[in-house]
Amino acid sequence: MSSLSPVEEAIRPSSLVDDAAQALSIKHNNLVYELRAAGHDIITLSLGEAFFDLPTPRFDDLAQQGLHHYSHSRGLPQLRQRLATYWADYDVPVDPEREIIVTAGSKIAIYMALLAVLEPGDEVLIPEPFWLSYPEQVRLCRGVPVLVPHDVSVFDLGRYVTTRTRAVVINNPNNPSGRVHTDAELAFVHDLADTRGLVVIADEAYHEFVPPETPFRACGSFDPELRHTITVNSMSKNYGVSGWRVGYLIAHRGLIDQILKINQHLVTCAPTILSCYLAEHFDDILAITRPQIRRVVELRREVAGQLSDIGIATLPGSATFYLFASLGRSTLDSVQFATRLLQEHSVSVVAGIAYGDSCDRHIRISVGTESPYRVARGIAAIRNLIDVTSRP
Ligand code: PLP
Repeated sequence: MSSLSPVEEAIRPSSLVDDAAQALSIKHNNLVYELRAAGHDIITLSLGEAFFDLPTPRFDDLAQQGLHHYSHSRGLPQLRQRLATYWADYDVPVDPEREIIVTAGSKIAIYMALLAVLEPGDEVLIPEPFWLSYPEQVRLCRGVPVLVPHDVSVFDLGRYVTTRTRAVVINNPNNPSGRVHTDAELAFVHDLADTRGLVVIADEAYHEFVPPETPFRACGSFDPELRHTITVNSMSKNYGVSGWRVGYLIAHRGLIDQILKINQHLVTCAPTILSCYLAEHFDDILAITRPQIRRVVELRREVAGQLSDIGIATLPGSATFYLFASLGRSTLDSVQFATRLLQEHSVSVVAGIAYGDSCDRHIRISVGTESPYRVARGIAAIRNLIDVTSRP
């Protein structure tokens, strides 16, 4: 007989959900929000976005009316059309009628893609450092995440492919390292997918955040027929509207039709009025965010230089607003380090362990939401804590 009370029995979670880990970055940032609400001044280097000055949207002059309601579950046609035109410039041909779904953020897009392709027990290759939701999403789809340590070259990914491998995730540019994949690496992944029958899930949520000297090449441009590529992307980072929950997914029409069913049952449609606003103001918003993106990418470059000057190594990367910094000789693990940094210096970063077991000697520093002066103060605190906690 169960030792649980009737209430405990009733609220007992499924093992699938019970075993899922919290998103460490979100958990940590909730703590930061609470500390701030209690009046603490926290230098916040832990948020997963850059803050932009954007005008508050006005909806009363939108051309289309009746926007308080559900809309087409593939996404508003004019936004799909605009996204198709945008991606044509990156050599990614997209049929707006059949090959794209606008989603309520890209997080659910990745989940729906995994749900659509995985059988229970199928493996998904996820190179570390990884965006922390990939493994949990694979598990929630009853798949098996195969985590590839950060020092394994892309060209060695084939070693991790088994008869159960179904997909490989490519996050380009990478959160948390800011790394941009080379053409040769992307071509290799596509060859691997072709020869081993894999799906490539290309998450390009930060593709506008690349410096001019590091050209971004869209994964989809290697696979114009969409044989195996599922591209997910988002308005959250590039347009600075993470709270609007608008993202999208580009894939083969056959797969899109499958994913559409999931979207219809889980979400119905992305926010209608916001999709309409984005379609009508697509270029205006980019004109506002692009100069600000350039500034934050430049700040990232400066901070990489500052870190190197004071002897803190970072994983290779030039894009996004993240740096993945080594804890050097500190004897703390990444959770202990992030916790003490917050408690003793009022500086928040995300512990590297969130991004894979091979990353526990690192922390993620985000420079997207603080002034250069406050970022520099945060960096000084990190150096200080590394020194204080290093072996003599
Ligand atoms: N992909 C990556 C790499 C991310 O860092 C994030 C958010 O932090 C997402 C996807 C999900 O973003 P959203 O659901 O806001 O589009």
